[in-house]
Amino acid sequence: MHSNMDVVCREVGLRDGLQIIDTFFSTDEKINWMRQEAAAGISSIQACSFVPPKLLPQFRDAEQVAAAALEIDGLWVSALVPNLKGAENAAKAKVHEIGFVTSVSESHNMANVRKTTDQSLEEFKRIIELRDSLPEGQRFKLSSGLSTALGCTIEGRVSPKAVMALAEKFVAAGTDELVVADTVGYSGPTEVKNLVSDVVSNFGGEVDVMAHFHDTRGLGLANVFAALEAGCRMFDASLAGLGGCPYAPHATGNVVMEDMIFMLETAGLRTGVDLEKLVAVREIVARNLPNEPLHGMYVKAGPPKGFQQVSKLK
Ligand code: ZN
Repeated sequence: MHSNMDVVCREVGLRDGLQIIDTFFSTDEKINWMRQEAAAGISSIQACSFVPPKLLPQFRDAEQVAAAALEIDGLWVSALVPNLKGAENAAKAKVHEIGFVTSVSESHNMANVRKTTDQSLEEFKRIIELRDSLPEGQRFKLSSGLSTALGCTIEGRVSPKAVMALAEKFVAAGTDELVVADTVGYSGPTEVKNLVSDVVSNFGGEVDVMAHFHDTRGLGLANVFAALEAGCRMFDASLAGLGGCPYAPHATGNVVMEDMIFMLETAGLRTGVDLEKLVAVREIVARNLPNEPLHGMYVKAGPPKGFQQVSKLK
């Protein structure tokens, strides 16, 4: 984390947001988007997913996007991978961080990557080997996503015990980071606070803990705040809340980055982000995806009278 920040806010719109959008967002405009956000103070970005282009044509330019992201000064660049092959490509691209996702819910994992969670864990161990085979100083940070940790579209409720058991396995295997993800926006702040507290107190000493929420049912920001109170200091969000849910048409997507920055700054936490500059980046998304709804309350109402970002206080 940079010294001028209390919280890391990672932009995931280019990955989670674009993943379910068929319209190809041009490579140049993806790069433009990343540059502008970095200029607004965003320090961490999930730039792409290394998946077979046949499966997700949106990410057929992953290599170029990752390379361009890595040229942006001071930007921490991560990419998502579904398997070892993806990790090898991401490692070749030299991204700082590789994210590997496994659903806590067995049937969701099967539907998503056609593997049992145990098979996913075996794949993860092969990625660990890849990381550890690299010379020290050239190793990527490896992150484990605990997908559907707070609810699943197939199984419904997911037990916190199952989340902790999978987290334990990832930590034992040698992960650098755990991401508690409410992939489908099922949960509320009480559940989040309980689960994230457990994850932080059990594993926070050994690995980084991030949280990833969706605003599907309007509780995205409440969940961020709950995770914050539970000790989490790294959050995913997307500009204009880009990224819906394939199972809930019309539902809002990821937590809106602009609103999250506003909330964190009102809590006296430095995000390092200039809100007005960030809001201006929405224009890039708007002109490239004219048919996508852009979300966000801060942009509608503007700053409260006399509002000053703590990030801008000297
Ligand atoms: Zn997501």
